[in-house]
Amino acid sequence: MATGCPLHNLIPEFNDLVYRGLWRQAWERLDKTSNFPEFTSRVCPALCEVGCTLGAIGMPPITVKAVEYAIIERAWAEGWVLPKVPPVRTGKRVAVVGSGPAGLAAAAQLNTAGHSVTVFERADRPGGLLMYGIPNMKLDKGVILRRVRLLEESGVKFIYNAHIGVEVDAQDILNTHDAVVLCTGSTRPRDANVEGRTLKGVHFAVDYLTAATKALLSGDVEATEINAAGLNVVVIGGGDTGNDCLGTVFRQSEACALTATRQRGRRVTQLEIMTRPPDTRQPDNVWPEWPKVLKVDYGQEEAIALREDTREDAADTVEVDAYPRRYCKTVKKFVGDANGHVREVVAVNVEWKKDASGRIVPVEVAGSEKTIPADIVLLAMGFLGTDTALLNELGVEADARGNIKAGHNAHRTNHPKIFAAGDCRRGQSLVVWAVNEGRAAARECDRFLMGYTMLP
Ligand SMILES: Cc1cc2nc3c(=O)[nH]c(=O)nc-3n(C[C@H](O)[C@H](O)[C@H](O)COP(=O)(O)OP(=O)(O)OC[C@H]3O[C@@H](n4cnc5c(N)ncnc54)[C@H](O)[C@@H]3O)c2cc1C
Repeated sequence: MATGCPLHNLIPEFNDLVYRGLWRQAWERLDKTSNFPEFTSRVCPALCEVGCTLGAIGMPPITVKAVEYAIIERAWAEGWVLPKVPPVRTGKRVAVVGSGPAGLAAAAQLNTAGHSVTVFERADRPGGLLMYGIPNMKLDKGVILRRVRLLEESGVKFIYNAHIGVEVDAQDILNTHDAVVLCTGSTRPRDANVEGRTLKGVHFAVDYLTAATKALLSGDVEATEINAAGLNVVVIGGGDTGNDCLGTVFRQSEACALTATRQRGRRVTQLEIMTRPPDTRQPDNVWPEWPKVLKVDYGQEEAIALREDTREDAADTVEVDAYPRRYCKTVKKFVGDANGHVREVVAVNVEWKKDASGRIVPVEVAGSEKTIPADIVLLAMGFLGTDTALLNELGVEADARGNIKAGHNAHRTNHPKIFAAGDCRRGQSLVVWAVNEGRAAARECDRFLMGYTMLP
């Protein structure tokens, strides 16, 4: 629950340097602790701002995220961000599996230490969830490619369409490298195992978001495999991924090219199994803890704004307590048409009660079924750990939650040559934590390879 920057960015120092107009020095401070400020300054929920000491006296925080954005974009514009080519190569070869923020951070750091790094990525483009997950309107894909080009110029090699354990033999990678850093993400989505799950039109959220980004990058936003335009959409899961789905469904192309991927849906409903959070902090949730309060993110804001235009569609959603979200609700079944396509979601209310062992669990409220029109259903219910097939092949142990078993800050798996970082180790988390882990795993990997390390 404690907040503050996981990267230990030197925030008071760079704030002061910006205040004094010393932008280059401010960037040099930021660059000491963060490999990719251009990612975090766009997508981070800003744990730093929640931890800002002004919160102790009930004041709004310093706008650290906006300051970070201004510093890094100025640094790029001024030409200060240059490739970091190591003066000496160690002759050690390291394979990084996965090119999300953890893999990119590990690769950047290991390259700086002089190792020859190859990043293997199963997708056709780099970035992991930065590329195929977080929508373009939140993180422009050109920003990721700009950084990857710089890493290439620094000496990091990227190989795409290389699914280790499927298209590329995992043992081969192990045998031909001195160390391997697994940064494979938490990629197994939680499913809704209810009647009608196999109907057409029921998709995992990340598949939907990936299709939208691929279409955008192909230059034809209409060419997406899963298009919500003009359809009734039910998103199951009230969190951030569900919000990104809403944003993608709702937005339209007129405003600017960046929003071209946003498809105008007819009506959206977001089902959330948890109770509605309070509007303000409660007495047991004080600064500097993460505030457990109702958050209305950009996708929900748009849904609320556009609801004006679709008043007749919204008529039967008056019962909702924070449109477009409906709390304490889950899916009971999907109902399809004669062609096997989903047309309705049957939702049911839940109450949170203690079970026999004292755990608080959701209990279905009898007779509370409600039918919601749905031409597309997007499952955004979280993730269940990393791809275990690769772990089995490499003989790497997983923990009870399906993540790779390796300690925080040590990042060593049970296999002496294999390290792990990011969501595949800690479970679904944040970009800033993935960068923290990639850096720490690189440090430990370097120590293993050289017997000492200079990496932070
Ligand atoms: C829709 C969505 C929106 C999000 N929005 C935000 C946000 O706004 N802010 C925020 O801080 N966090 C956000 N997150 C969380 C954040 O994206 C993740 O915590 C972060 O990307 C994890 O980084 P990672 O490098 O560990 O894994 P990932 O980004 O998941 O990358 C893992 C990579 O490994 C590759 N891979 C996996 N297995 C193999 C294999 N066997 N061979 C080769 N490659 C492989 C995958 O293709 C993928 O590219 C979001 C997550 C989702 C799902």
